[in-house]
Amino acid sequence: MMKMKIYHFDGCGGCQLAIMGMQHDMLQLFELVQLITDNHKNEQVDIGLVIGHYTEGMIKNILGCCDKLLIIGACAHQSYTAIHETLGIEEERLYFVKGCPLSVDELIHVIHCIINGVRPKEKNYPVCVSCKENENICLLLKGMPCKGPITQAGCHAKCIGKGVPCRGCRGLLKDARLDVYETIKENVAEGMKG
Ligand code: SF4
Ligand code: SF4
Ligand code: SF4
Repeated sequence: MMKMKIYHFDGCGGCQLAIMGMQHDMLQLFELVQLITDNHKNEQVDIGLVIGHYTEGMIKNILGCCDKLLIIGACAHQSYTAIHETLGIEEERLYFVKGCPLSVDELIHVIHCIINGVRPKEKNYPVCVSCKENENICLLLKGMPCKGPITQAGCHAKCIGKGVPCRGCRGLLKDARLDVYETIKENVAEGMKG
C-alpha cells in the first residue's frame, strides 16, 4: 500500500475541512493509502499531499521525502505557479487537484490514478464549455464579470449554476487568450453603460 503524508501550510483551512468532512470517502481513502503522521518526520513516502501557500525552500524539502507531489487547492496551486520555473520538478512527479476548495471526488480520483500509474485527464478547455453543457445563461450578458473563458474547466461550472461569476479558482487555462478576454470585459462594461 502506498504511503501518503499531508503537509499543511498557510491557507484558510477550507481544504482541510473538505478532507475532514470526507466521512465515507475517508474510509475509501484509508483503503487506498496509508496516512503517515508528523510522528514519522523523516520517513520517505510515495505521495506528499500539499495544502496552502508555500515557498520554494519549503517544497524542496518535501520533494526530498516523497516520490509524487499532490498539490491540492487553489492556494497550493498558486504557490506552485509562482515558483515552477525555478523549481524544475519533473512533470511525471506532479499531480493537481485544483479549485477553492478542492473537490473530494476529484481528490479520490487522482489518488486512484497515482496508485494505478496513470495520468488524470487534463481538462484543456474553459469553464464556458461546461457552462454551455449545463445550458446556463451567460453571466457576461447580464454585465457580470466572469473569468470562465480563461479558466480551466473541471468544476462543472458550479458557481455559474448558482448565479455567481467564475473567479478563476481552477487556474488559468493553458494558452488562455487574455487579450481577447480583456476586450470582452471592456465590451460588457460599455454595454452596461449604454
Ligand atoms: S484553496 Fe481555498 S479553501 Fe483551500 S486553503 Fe486555499 S483559500 Fe482555503
Ligand atoms: S457565464 Fe462565464 S463561464 Fe458561463 S459562458 Fe458566460 S463567461 Fe463562460
Ligand atoms: S466556476 Fe470558476 S470559481 Fe467556480 S468552482 Fe469553477 S473554476 Fe472555481
